[in-house]
Amino acid sequence: DDPILSVTTFEDLKLNENLLKGIYEMGFTKPSKIQAKALPLLIKTPPQNMIGQSQSGTGKTAAFVLTMLSRIDFDLKSLQALCLAPSRELARQIMVEVLKMAKYTPVMTAEAIRESNVKSYTTGKSRNEEFAEAQLIVGTPGTVYDLFRRRIINKNTIKIFVLDEADNMLDQQSLGDQSIKIKNMMPKDCQIVLFSATYSREVRSFAERFAPNANQFSLKVEELSVKTISQFYMDCKNEQHKFQVLDDLYTLLTIGQSIIFVQKRDTADIIARRMTENGHKVINLHGGLSANERDHVMDGFRRGDAKVLITTNVLSRGIDVLQVNLVINYDLPTDATGKPDFETYLHRIGRTGRFGRTGVSINFVHDANSWEVVKSIEQHFQREIIKRSLRTTVTNN
Ligand code: ADP
Ligand code: MG
Repeated sequence: DDPILSVTTFEDLKLNENLLKGIYEMGFTKPSKIQAKALPLLIKTPPQNMIGQSQSGTGKTAAFVLTMLSRIDFDLKSLQALCLAPSRELARQIMVEVLKMAKYTPVMTAEAIRESNVKSYTTGKSRNEEFAEAQLIVGTPGTVYDLFRRRIINKNTIKIFVLDEADNMLDQQSLGDQSIKIKNMMPKDCQIVLFSATYSREVRSFAERFAPNANQFSLKVEELSVKTISQFYMDCKNEQHKFQVLDDLYTLLTIGQSIIFVQKRDTADIIARRMTENGHKVINLHGGLSANERDHVMDGFRRGDAKVLITTNVLSRGIDVLQVNLVINYDLPTDATGKPDFETYLHRIGRTGRFGRTGVSINFVHDANSWEVVKSIEQHFQREIIKRSLRTTVTNN
């Protein structure tokens, strides 16, 4: 059952003509399954809450962005749609999508991410003026909460509140606290829309209280793996040997763009430095960098200036760079106690294989524990993770 192919058209979904113009200009010809299923329910009056789920790369963003834009009264110069995302990179990416879809509408928007001065260059307005006039805001919870607290934005006219990567936004300690505080400030009849590729059982029951009486789309765990992403593992002799394998891999392969995930900022810095010393062109992004550095690195990666991005879980979710055809789990995703973090695994490998494209993911295994982690991931998602040696990897690509 393909999550991309759908039988409906965007016209069937009764979207506003100006929005249709925007999405056709983006090259979208037909809605994906989740778009076709969710949009009619989302734009219906009276508004209903939604807890939406579909595989990574199946176009969830358009489903909630088109809904936000459909809900806005452009004559009303106040905040009507608010979307939160877990990282500044994802918030910026969603805003880019908003601006494309809204090209033929007069919507006023603002990005609420820390230290962001992107907007003031373009309009000449102060940041606060922009926030005050915005009809649609996309941001990270900390910054958005701060804007409410300082009364720079007004919550009274908000009609739709969206959480992208909702399970992450509700689950993670600080993100969760802030998302809940913000949600509690929303007007009583505000539409609440949650989207993610994953909801653990506990998170889903919390989500059901967060978005009461929601229309729900859910997938079974065995449906979650994207079929076009091949999953492999490579044996490394020990922790130290992992770097050697990585170095060899990038010496032998000419790949498109790739992302290497590690668990800690330090590791990202160290392997970025060592790869650079060994003549590989890599860039490195994690939460320890300044906002400007992060923007600079991410923009470079999106332009394709750099082909190899080393990063932490900060970029595990939502990031959409279509040219990424390889994801390497240099460190496997585990929680603080060393147990597999299934959701993060799925999101990380989902940075490739976007919207029906093919992709490859490679997991580095270096000891009994990492072997166990790979085996339990395989069992959890009921998808084989195949052994690869350097030799087979090179000859088959
Ligand atoms: P998700 O949030 O479900 O992981 P995204 O919303 O990031 O997926 O979409 C993945 C990619 O597919 C993006 O590059 C997006 O522009 C593209 N896309 C989404 N919907 C369509 C469509 N209907 N037709 C063509 N491309 C689409
Ligand atoms: Mg997404």
